[in-house]
Amino acid sequence: MYRDREGGVGGLGKSEIVGGGGPLDRKRIVNDALDKHLEKSSPSTSRGFNAKDKERSSVPSTSPGKAKLDHRDSRSASLAKNKSSDEESETDSEESDVSGSDGDDTSWISWFCNLRGNEFFCEVDDEYIQDDFNLCGLSSQVPYYDYALDLILDVESSHGDMFTEEQNELVESAAEMLYGLIHVRYILTTKGMTAMLEKYKSYDFGRCPRVYCCGQPCLPVGQSDIPRSSTVKIYCPKCEDIYYPRSKYQGNIDGAYFGTTFPHLFLMSYAHLKPQKPTQSYVPRVFGFKLHKP
Ligand SMILES: [Zn+2]
Repeated sequence: MYRDREGGVGGLGKSEIVGGGGPLDRKRIVNDALDKHLEKSSPSTSRGFNAKDKERSSVPSTSPGKAKLDHRDSRSASLAKNKSSDEESETDSEESDVSGSDGDDTSWISWFCNLRGNEFFCEVDDEYIQDDFNLCGLSSQVPYYDYALDLILDVESSHGDMFTEEQNELVESAAEMLYGLIHVRYILTTKGMTAMLEKYKSYDFGRCPRVYCCGQPCLPVGQSDIPRSSTVKIYCPKCEDIYYPRSKYQGNIDGAYFGTTFPHLFLMSYAHLKPQKPTQSYVPRVFGFKLHKP
């Protein structure tokens, strides 16, 4: 995500950005690099040119295979940014277990979905991601696509030190973006909607802040389907309006990872969940008298 961005891209102004700090500069550098890449591979400048080939050419030529991305390192790095220091020490101890057969076999997807701020994401089925048809068109949108995909699917490959730390961070950011772009498609499928239903039932998306909506559970929505144009909002099915998520961490997630369609298709699919329109509305009064409307 780009919670640490400054300046923002598109609709992401400074007001939607969480304040800075030590490790943020590096994250910004990574995001800038990612931006540069995205600019390079945008359809207008590289029509017909396969973005994947470019990435490969930027990788040291000594390495025939794919890099083994050290999940643990990049995960703990991200965790350090997202979690408090006591949780961090837990990750350190986990890190000492370097063997591939660690007991707490957390997949990248569960790890990602459990990061603070990522509560809106459901876990996308491995099967869905493994079906190329479902990923159609994404390879041109996401830099380091193949590596990002391997990371998401926990595919271990043999070349450990091929990538620099910065490249690993780029792949990690690319994986987040790729996951988001897969996620927005997945939540429109039956399985994805079921997963989101479970989250809705446990109020994972928060409740409407409007008093007369009486704590109505909300659904995540994007104001645009184009990545990096606006952050995710919550949609209240009762007053049919959108609001900022309560958590500033959630407020930095890209709205395109949920899309403009999801809550509405969801409520069409689960029509019984569509609440009645609110019966009460707030009436401003001065000394008990309604205000005269011009
Ligand atoms: Zn509402």
